[in-house]
Amino acid sequence: MKNSLSFSIILFITIVFIYSCSTQEDNNSVQAAPASLTPAEINTTDVINDTKIFNYDVNKNYSEQIVDFYPNAFFASDLSVNVINGINLALKTAADEFGKYGPVEYWVFGTDKQAALDLINKFCERRETLNQWTMTECLRRETDESLDYSMISYQKVGENVILNNKPSGSAAHNGGSEWGIHNMAHSYPFGFDNIFEVDPPQNDFKTVLHEYFHVVQKASVFSLGRDIDDDYLKPNKTIWMMEGGAEYMANYTLFKLSNNGTLSFEKPWGSLKQKMTRKMENGKRIFQQDCPNSLLNEFNHQFCRDPGYDLGSWGVAYLINKVNNQKVLLETFYPNLKKLGFEGAFNLSFGYSTSEFYNEFYEFLQLPIEQQLEIIPNF
Ligand SMILES: [Zn+2]
Repeated sequence: MKNSLSFSIILFITIVFIYSCSTQEDNNSVQAAPASLTPAEINTTDVINDTKIFNYDVNKNYSEQIVDFYPNAFFASDLSVNVINGINLALKTAADEFGKYGPVEYWVFGTDKQAALDLINKFCERRETLNQWTMTECLRRETDESLDYSMISYQKVGENVILNNKPSGSAAHNGGSEWGIHNMAHSYPFGFDNIFEVDPPQNDFKTVLHEYFHVVQKASVFSLGRDIDDDYLKPNKTIWMMEGGAEYMANYTLFKLSNNGTLSFEKPWGSLKQKMTRKMENGKRIFQQDCPNSLLNEFNHQFCRDPGYDLGSWGVAYLINKVNNQKVLLETFYPNLKKLGFEGAFNLSFGYSTSEFYNEFYEFLQLPIEQQLEIIPNF
């Protein structure tokens, strides 16, 4: 306690000192926030990579609002230019396609431990600057390798990819609503470095789009806080809309933009129909094995999880096709979720009840793949 108090005093003095250095000519603004917290002269038309910059008003509450600034992405120092450019472009694309919500902090780790510790230090400095967490407590949690979703755990995933020469990744929206931000982390996005033949850059790009779609989803119920938002986003713990929505919208967007020339990648990645065919095959295989009599709403993180993603993305594709509006989640479902609840927003968006849909979709799963693919856009 005593240590953290004296540390706070030192930090305060440091901030004041930095501030007074940077504003020597402006004697009237002593009461203003430290220079680094002032967004006025910061370019808000791009993804910011400097952990010392806040490209928004730190005193403002942006809950459930469309904002006018892009996400932030922060990188461990061992990451390549290809990774940095790839993540920045993917985040900018996601914000342009799905809407700008924020503030978003997207922390990207490489394989080197010291580089990860340096990045975690910057994360904790940011928390302390905003009076959200003490440096000591932040570092204690985020550098603890034994904790799930600690920041250092993302570096470990990347380190093991190289050690075992085996592709594996982890990315997540890790909350942050208590601080008014979307706090996200991504393990080494090796696809952007073309490390493995089977994992081209499109995979990582898709992952960023998927995670950013969780920003959109969480932003719709942001002010309710972390304990309550799940009741809206995943009623009865069902994951098909949350994960299926993120997965389908990410894939749809990536293939659409690749097809119309907005995005270009070195190697082709097939088509959306091919991608969805694999999802149907994988989803149905595990579904028939583990949970053959279950409806979509019974899949959760413990039970029938993978079909929750794969068949969940088909469920979302099915609904989007039904109303013939690719933006129905963005325009109708999520904007009404907080007010109407899951069932109400579903009714408004798709014109019938969830139970009617679950039964209809169960029948759809029995159709031959050629017929199922008719609902998937042709790119
Ligand atoms: Zn997800």
